[in-house]
Amino acid sequence: MAVEPYEGTYGRTVTIDVCHACNGLWFDGRESLLLAPAGVIALFQSMHERHATARAPLVPGNSCPRCGGRLKETSDLMNGTRFSYLGCPSDGRFITFFQWLREKGFVRTPSPVELAELKARVKQVNCSQCSAPIDLATANACAHCQAPVSVLSEDRISQTLEQLSAKQAERDALKPARLAEAMMLKHHIDHAWRREERAAGLRRTAAWGLGFRADPIDIGLGLLLRAFRR
Ligand SMILES: [Zn+2]
Ligand SMILES: [Zn+2]
Repeated sequence: MAVEPYEGTYGRTVTIDVCHACNGLWFDGRESLLLAPAGVIALFQSMHERHATARAPLVPGNSCPRCGGRLKETSDLMNGTRFSYLGCPSDGRFITFFQWLREKGFVRTPSPVELAELKARVKQVNCSQCSAPIDLATANACAHCQAPVSVLSEDRISQTLEQLSAKQAERDALKPARLAEAMMLKHHIDHAWRREERAAGLRRTAAWGLGFRADPIDIGLGLLLRAFRR
């Protein structure tokens, strides 16, 4: 695991152990609560950049990197969203980036209407956690790792960006309209899809036989970060 520093609240630095091979994050104690909005965006960036090579979902039976004890599979609810992680009662937790996004409310399960819209546009998406293909005609969750099909939560992300822009208003020159547009589900599908298809030659995910990775979360984060850098 790589130790990466992120901006925390009150000028602190939060160091997070990141496993890019399994898309996993280790949080000591309550570290996860201490990330500042800028730290959250930087973590999005780090995970998005390496997502193309990250595949393996977490497997139970791993041991705690601090005490060596066996990590326990735990499931929890936050604002109605279920998420799971591997926890050590005394040291912290190991959580996939996807489950962390669920815990923090950055992603949500699409409404029945949104899901119908998604199905009308694409037959298959890739699991946001393990990249396995999900056939939308027959499933709303991944058959390999059980991660539910999810989309970015516009409200929660906008909130984070607002907190950030309040602090760094001039410097970052955020374009709210573009961001809002980038996060809309329609945009995910119509524009990003075509762009990803065009880029397919560069980013083949041959293992699953797809020319591009149709992961709504990763595509959404890509658009968000691109808009953010402008
Ligand atoms: Zn431990
Ligand atoms: Zn999966």
